[in-house]
Amino acid sequence: MIGKMNGEFSKRLNLAARLFEAKGKQYMAAYLRSSQRRIEKIEGGAPYAVCTYYFPSEIAAALNLEFLYIEKVVGLAMGVGIIRRGSIARQPEAVCSYQQAFCNLLDMGILPKPKVILGVPFPCRDAISLCRFLHSRHAIPFFEVKSATMARDFQHVVQSLSAQLGYRESLPHVLALSAQATALKKEVDTYRRRYPGIIESEDCMNLFTIENDFGLPSAVTVLQELLRNVRSRVPLYQEPAYKILWMGLVPLYDSSFLKKVEQTVGGSIVMEEMWLYDHRPIGYQHFYDDLAHRIRQSFFYSLGRRQNVIHKTAERMKVSAVVNFLQHQCSFLPRTAKSFSERFVQANIPYVVLGCDVIHGPVPEWIWGQLKRLHRREYHGSSENGEHPVTHHG
Ligand code: SF4
Repeated sequence: MIGKMNGEFSKRLNLAARLFEAKGKQYMAAYLRSSQRRIEKIEGGAPYAVCTYYFPSEIAAALNLEFLYIEKVVGLAMGVGIIRRGSIARQPEAVCSYQQAFCNLLDMGILPKPKVILGVPFPCRDAISLCRFLHSRHAIPFFEVKSATMARDFQHVVQSLSAQLGYRESLPHVLALSAQATALKKEVDTYRRRYPGIIESEDCMNLFTIENDFGLPSAVTVLQELLRNVRSRVPLYQEPAYKILWMGLVPLYDSSFLKKVEQTVGGSIVMEEMWLYDHRPIGYQHFYDDLAHRIRQSFFYSLGRRQNVIHKTAERMKVSAVVNFLQHQCSFLPRTAKSFSERFVQANIPYVVLGCDVIHGPVPEWIWGQLKRLHRREYHGSSENGEHPVTHHG
């Protein structure tokens, strides 16, 4: 049932942005402010699209409507405590817990009903299952982009929605902003590789969904602020003695989780898998083909490419260990975990597979025991060949 909206979500985002401003983290404040403004408009009745993670933000940014990405809005909602672990209903069971959390935002009236759903069947089928569920439960129009006809389907979305709603921005302008954000992200990454640990990992885990804002001016502002902050840290930089590459996700209900991990292990997380995306340029002439090509070339699209990028990053950054933190209620990430272990064994990089339900929790105790083993430097290969203890709902 859709309940009454009271603007609480945007108020909490505003408060969180002010806290980051006071801490001098202008990039986090800018990120939260842009989300706050968008949520405020949506709470006030502005039509919005709900998008699955890999639906191109450049399309959404050009159309005359607001847009929200499921993972990003769930992360924000849990980060500011508008929904909390333990009080999130598990319906519908067929989809992952991220998506269940999104359903809760609608059911509790924290977000109004979207005007339209835009979904691509990648990286998982759950994304499309949720779109179909929302489409039938709330009678929301759903544009399903198919793998085989991606470019044509993107064009269909733009033609249909621009005819109904018009454009907010011209495509060339959106593409110029996207290219600017891409260049800034590359520059930030150059610093991250040259000075491992120069950015706090929890900030990168909070910010990686800025990818879903490429094409908007706010993504450029956030990355400019981040770059400014990174440059200011260079004179005081000290390389950590123990460097960790973090794969997968983090529990969204514990904002200090990565800090606790670093303290337990006695090291610093210097790169995150979720931050490793690398956008390819999109041209105006071949806009739809380029978007489809970018998705097919993207990091998570092929397991071989993902393995290659992860292994090369670990080797080039000379990391001391790799932790792969699985979201247990995920149909995509856990089944790939074991496939990374062989090359890490060859490279003599400890590879530890951990995980829990990052939405429903809790973080099980055995995880801290495994991290303490890393602290005692007891791992010299792969944890249980990349197997992980399986728990139900964590
Ligand atoms: S957590 Fe896994 S199942 Fe859920 S949306 Fe992400 S990839 Fe899909």
